[in-house]
Amino acid sequence: MSSVSSPAAVPTPPVLTIIIPVFNELAVLPVCLARLRSVLEVLAVSYELLFVDDGSKDGTAAYLDRTAMALGAMRVIHLSRNFGKEAAMTAGLDHAHGEAVIILDADLQDPPELIPDMVKAWKEGADVVVMRRRTRMGDTWLKRVSAHIYYRILNRLSEVEIPPDTGDFRLLSRRAVVAMRKIPERGRYMKGLFAWIGMPTTTILYDRAPRVAGRSKWGLHNLAKLGFDGITSFSLSPLRIASITGTIILAIGCALGLLVVARILLYDESMSVPLALVALVTFLAGLQLSTIGVLGAYVGRIHTEIKQRPVYLVQDIVERQTDTQPSPR
Ligand code: UDP
Ligand code: MG
Repeated sequence: MSSVSSPAAVPTPPVLTIIIPVFNELAVLPVCLARLRSVLEVLAVSYELLFVDDGSKDGTAAYLDRTAMALGAMRVIHLSRNFGKEAAMTAGLDHAHGEAVIILDADLQDPPELIPDMVKAWKEGADVVVMRRRTRMGDTWLKRVSAHIYYRILNRLSEVEIPPDTGDFRLLSRRAVVAMRKIPERGRYMKGLFAWIGMPTTTILYDRAPRVAGRSKWGLHNLAKLGFDGITSFSLSPLRIASITGTIILAIGCALGLLVVARILLYDESMSVPLALVALVTFLAGLQLSTIGVLGAYVGRIHTEIKQRPVYLVQDIVERQTDTQPSPR
């Protein structure tokens, strides 16, 4: 694992690292920080806030830097551009020093007030504390229904059980973080990877709050891409379904062809033949194309994995100087 600061430069690692991926969240950051700090002060364990600025353009970066300089117990990782939330979380996990790590959205949809419960479950032995949504306040009707259907399909197809109604809000022990760092794959569907590592897991139910301010950063396009990534990363079923359907249709095509030939030979029905053939050829061509499309999706994945590009690039890391000084002995 590469780390920017050498081990000697890190004083004592904090008990808790809170990873917060942020992309253009200036509107929510002051209230996010205030609520986080008030929860953490009461909790009385050492902590660090690790913000991953995912290429924000709205002044988020400067605000975070100023706050980190003023307050301490806070680091800001600036990615060199917007790499997406999955990459931002990966960067956070790679740079977290805590014995336990919590991933939290900046918009306070994941209430920081639940952190003590999560820490308690971890202290009781859980390596992973999964936060499962009882309700999804603030999500549109369409998002709720599509999420419900999507997770049911994903779980039917996927090789590992991916808990439904969970997001990225969760606690990971040091051991779980180390496991996550061992996964080199580039098309990172984090919810699937979190499930893939296994380990003793506790589930806590919670009510998902609406966004405090600002707008969701996930457009329909990004959600669809993430959804497709989820299925192609964790299942080969679409590929199999396409091949099976293709074979069945091919057999039907052969049978039809034989039937048409037989009718021509026996009854000389030459008039209907061209039409039947055109329909058949169009149908088969369409089928072949869609099958090739599914194959292409997997070939595309192989292509991205083979390139071995880093999942993200760190531009620089900001923290108060005293935080990285070796502690006097
Ligand atoms: N986020 C990010 N990079 C992105 C998109 C989102 O780091 O490209 C962060 C965002 O700032 C927030 C969290 O991921 O802290 C969740 O995003 P959002 O609230 O927009 O997603 P939603 O709750 O609508 O699914
Ligand atoms: Mg949100």
